[in-house]
Amino acid sequence: MRQSQLFTRSRREAPKDEESRNAQLLIRAGYVHKEMAGVYAYMPLGLRVIEKIKGIVREEMNALGCQEFIMTSLQRKELWEKTDRWDDRNVDVWFKSELKNGGQVGFGWSHEEPITDMMRNYISSYRDLPVYGYQFQTKLRNELRAKSGIMRGREFVMKDLYSYSRTEEEHKAFYDGVIAAYLRVFERVGLGNSTFLTFASGGAFTQFSHEFQTVSDVGEDIIYLDRNKKIAINQEVLTDEVVAQLGVDRGTLEEVKAVEVGNIFSFGGTKCEQLGLFFKDDDGSQKPVILGSYGIGITRLMGIVVEHFSDDKGLVWPEAIAPFKVHLLSLGADEAATKVYETLVAAGIEVLYDDRDARAGEKFADSDLLGLPYRVVIGKRSVESGEAEVKQRTNEENEMVAIADLVKYFVDR
Ligand code: ATP
Ligand code: MG
Repeated sequence: MRQSQLFTRSRREAPKDEESRNAQLLIRAGYVHKEMAGVYAYMPLGLRVIEKIKGIVREEMNALGCQEFIMTSLQRKELWEKTDRWDDRNVDVWFKSELKNGGQVGFGWSHEEPITDMMRNYISSYRDLPVYGYQFQTKLRNELRAKSGIMRGREFVMKDLYSYSRTEEEHKAFYDGVIAAYLRVFERVGLGNSTFLTFASGGAFTQFSHEFQTVSDVGEDIIYLDRNKKIAINQEVLTDEVVAQLGVDRGTLEEVKAVEVGNIFSFGGTKCEQLGLFFKDDDGSQKPVILGSYGIGITRLMGIVVEHFSDDKGLVWPEAIAPFKVHLLSLGADEAATKVYETLVAAGIEVLYDDRDARAGEKFADSDLLGLPYRVVIGKRSVESGEAEVKQRTNEENEMVAIADLVKYFVDR
């Protein structure tokens, strides 16, 4: 993509009312537009990052045998009443509205109820099980405080997966598979070393739910970490009993702040029973289906990546989720640079080409702010020497690479 065509622009200042570092940088770099507190729109560069993250999650979900679909945002009150989750005293993040011709609707903050009800059309026998379905969807939540930028939105993108299983054993095996898949997702987006499987409250059926917590000073949660075992305990469930049960040593647990990037739950048969999702087993008996629910905050993940990797010059994207791999800068050598751009793109390399009529200093500063993994500079000297200057965003040193070798250089890494 040519940067002269990009309608977004970088700016020096972030909005005054924006406290969080992730949103400040993303807004300054033109990745995100702030509509109001806790409500952000994703501009072309930001959308590319979201799509990259979704791509990784999608690969991992499909590898588990899950199927993608999309549910609706408007939800029926009576379904949530069946499970006692319509009442604002039980769920404090509902947005609700009235229909013109009477009756209330809810705006989807989660989807266990509508998906389970929908599955009654497709699941009636043990032969129909298991079913694993997921979606990427904008969730709406009336969050009391929205001060962590895109990490706590009133509108945000979540991947949510629901498993419908015949037996507890089948459920447990899949649940463990999801844990492994989630850990791979966090590894692939670059947060593998700082994200921990965490025992937390909220298991409707089991003693714990499992969270995935990324260690960060901007985190809102406190977790107790066992670095050797690579597990953590959320403060909310930390007791001597739990410590003993998990076989960790209270003395070596490290207290840290962390951001919840994922959360998975077992519901047992309760929710399907409440909503009337039963199947006929091979002995003819009617049984409730076993439900599991698994969420990853896609936009929150993007926010924590920004918090984790950015520096005083701007954003720093891990290659796997960068909007483009290469930032190509023409410094008064448009003809040569355009040729390089076309060659790289033809080789399938994702390039943002700064072809704007701007000063070198401005282009360099902008390139640092945008944070693409590789910067390639074609200047007047390159035309004579046949070499380009290549610099990694995370590295101070420049490297000279023959223009003729650039495709090979990028294809190989
Ligand atoms: P929190 O405790 O942070 O409010 P939650 O426990 O209510 O989150 P879940 O219902 O478990 O969230 O949602 C699944 C995932 O969606 C979370 O692990 C998180 O990554 C993401 N998420 C939840 N709320 C938000 C939000 N307001 N903005 C962005 N992402 C969110
Ligand atoms: Mg949670």
